[in-house]
Amino acid sequence: MKELHISSNQRNQMIDITTNIQHVIKEEKINDGIVIVYIPHTTAGITINEGADPSVQQDIIETLQKLIPAHTNYKHMEGNSDAHIKASLLGSSVTVLVTKGTLILGTWQRIFFYEGDGPRNRTVYVYTSKNK
Ligand code: ZN
Repeated sequence: MKELHISSNQRNQMIDITTNIQHVIKEEKINDGIVIVYIPHTTAGITINEGADPSVQQDIIETLQKLIPAHTNYKHMEGNSDAHIKASLLGSSVTVLVTKGTLILGTWQRIFFYEGDGPRNRTVYVYTSKNK
């Protein structure tokens, strides 16, 4: 298991961590297997989506903001309920298959860390398993 440390610099932000995950696969010498990317946070998420056109990330961020306003009649005292709701919608892990030492991702797919309540320092756990 590897631990990655990432820092967000905005309240809502998508950070492409695909290269970091690919690096772990090389380090762990995974030729054929799986990788689980997991975050221990309640106001951030992990998602796979298009990385070629950055406006897709902007559209995701803006649409989530529209759907889940920053401030409304939330009960949670911390004032970051919107981030908690986004985190639940996106989920806290993704599983990706690995073959020939490479993540199996579609041409446009990238793995993103979604920051919902930044700027913050965050941890990403990367668990790998080799096929026998
Ligand atoms: Zn909170």
